[in-house]
Amino acid sequence: MISIKSPREIDIMRRGGKITAGTLSTLLRTAEAGMTLRELDRLAERMIRERGGVPTFKGYNGFPASICACVNDVVVHGIPGDYALKDGDLLSIDIGATFEGYVSDSAASIGIGNVSAAAQRLMRVTQESLMLGIAQMQEGNRLSDIGHAVQQHAEASGYGVVRALVGHGVGRKMHEEPQVPNFGDPGKGIVLRSGLCLAIEPMITEGTHEVRTLPDGWTVVTADGKLAAHFEHTIALTEEGPRILTLRDMLEHPDAANYRPKEEIAA
Ligand code: MG
Ligand code: MG
Repeated sequence: MISIKSPREIDIMRRGGKITAGTLSTLLRTAEAGMTLRELDRLAERMIRERGGVPTFKGYNGFPASICACVNDVVVHGIPGDYALKDGDLLSIDIGATFEGYVSDSAASIGIGNVSAAAQRLMRVTQESLMLGIAQMQEGNRLSDIGHAVQQHAEASGYGVVRALVGHGVGRKMHEEPQVPNFGDPGKGIVLRSGLCLAIEPMITEGTHEVRTLPDGWTVVTADGKLAAHFEHTIALTEEGPRILTLRDMLEHPDAANYRPKEEIAA
């Protein structure tokens, strides 16, 4: 069952989305060499609760923390432990907050200190891929138009698109129907209509798109040990087009949903 949200529900998700976005924004600003992932997690939980939300991830299928923190070859679901960030790390943070019964889900990657040009390019292309996917979230388009746009941009840039994990509908539950793959042919799947709320989340890799899960049962890493980046937004499709409910006050432009790629710059 795909749930279509009323304007009232979308307004609650918009307010919840501000909690998620504001907290993620602070985490991205705060993360620096020497800081442990556990410290970032504590900060996230405190900020979400202070703002009237509940950390959605904490206890979700037994997940022990409020954020997923992923360094370098970790793609998603990294448990924030005692690892201390190092200069040159690529850090991806995934975060969710539940507010008045509705979930918003968002992720972003950032470089710690002096990161390589290769890592910067991977992060940029991943964020661009997300924005191009969001731009396809228009009434009358088909679901697979989103993933097709993501895949085209990422692969044209020489990167891999993770297949094993996908985006999703979002609302009263974090993971609702439909699944939103980041790949595929265009023109397939449901017709998009106003009231649909999706978490679109490209996971893009420097090398192979194959991933594996570590023995902790959570941490997903690239099979070849190369870098991965992850950007995610919760978006409502409205009569005015896609509305990003987790838009941050940094690293993005408010017109991001209208993003079109410029000439690809060689790395
Ligand atoms: Mg997420
Ligand atoms: Mg998600």
